[in-house]
Amino acid sequence: MSWLDLHMHSSESMDGEFSPEEVVSIAKKAGVMVMAICDHNITTGVKRGVEAAKNAGITCIPAVELDTQCGGRNFHIIGYGIDPEQEALAKFGEKTRRQKEQNGKKRMTKMREMGFFFEEKEVLHYAKQGNIIIANIFQAILEDERNLGNPLVEKYRNHDMPGVDFFWENCSKPGSAGFVAEGNLPAEEGIQCIKAAGGIPVLAHPGANMGENAELFQKLVEAGIEGVEAFCSYHQNQEDVFYTKMAKKYELLITQGSDFHGKLKPQIQPGSIVSGMEEEIYKKLCERMERQGKTDET
Ligand SMILES: [Zn+2]
Ligand SMILES: [Zn+2]
Repeated sequence: MSWLDLHMHSSESMDGEFSPEEVVSIAKKAGVMVMAICDHNITTGVKRGVEAAKNAGITCIPAVELDTQCGGRNFHIIGYGIDPEQEALAKFGEKTRRQKEQNGKKRMTKMREMGFFFEEKEVLHYAKQGNIIIANIFQAILEDERNLGNPLVEKYRNHDMPGVDFFWENCSKPGSAGFVAEGNLPAEEGIQCIKAAGGIPVLAHPGANMGENAELFQKLVEAGIEGVEAFCSYHQNQEDVFYTKMAKKYELLITQGSDFHGKLKPQIQPGSIVSGMEEEIYKKLCERMERQGKTDET
C-alpha cells in the first residue's frame, strides 16, 4: 500500500459514496498520509476535505477532476492546488452540468428508439443529481413489465451489473446502437480554468481513455497539461511505463492515484496504487504548486 493517493472521490461528486470527512478517515485508516479529493466538476467538498485532513494529522491537496474532450475523445483533467472558490471553475462546472442534462435527454430518446419502455421518473430515481447515464435507464427498463421477453433485456437481467454490461456492449462505441456523442467542453478550456484557479493541470488515467497513443498525448500537451497520472488503477504495467516515458519526454510531472469512489468501484481501495516513486512525485508536485502560487501573486 502507498502513503500517497492523489485521486479520490467524495459524495460531492455525483458518484462517490462517502462524505469528504469520511474519505479522509478511510484514507488515513488505509495508511495514506497525503491525499487529494478530486470530485467531478465540483469543488464544494474541497475545504471540508482539507480541514478534516488537517484535524486527522494528514494532508489533503485541494483538487478537482474536469470532464473534457480532445480529438473526439473524453479526457479527465485533474487540477491540483486549486482555489476551490475561483469563479472559472464554478462556471465550468455549471456548463458541464447543463451539457450532462442534454446528454441524459439524448440517451433516453435513444433508448426509446431502441424499443425499450420506461418512465422518466423511474430513471431519475436512480440518477444521482439528475445526471442520467445508460445504467440508470437500463435499471428502469429492467423493472418495467412492458419489456418482459425483450431478448436484449433478458440477456442482461441476471448479470451482476446489468446496466453497466449493457452499456459497454451496446452503447459505448461510435456506431453501436445506443451510442450518444457526449460533447464535453474542450480540454483547453478545462486547462485554462484550472490555471485561472491557480492549479496544476494533470491528465488522469490516460491509458483508460486512449491506450498508448503518442499522437493524442502530444495534442494534450499542446493544450497545456503539465502532468500525467502515469500510475492508476486502470493501467496495465506497460501503460505505466509508456506514460512515465511520455512524461519524461515532455518534462511533465508524474502523479499516482487510485480513483477511489466507494461502492461504485468496490475493487479500488485508497492507497492501492504503489509507484515506488512516492517521495519524488510528492516533492515535485509541491515545488510546482509553490511556484504556481508565487506566479499568481506577481
Ligand atoms: Zn476520471
Ligand atoms: Zn476520478
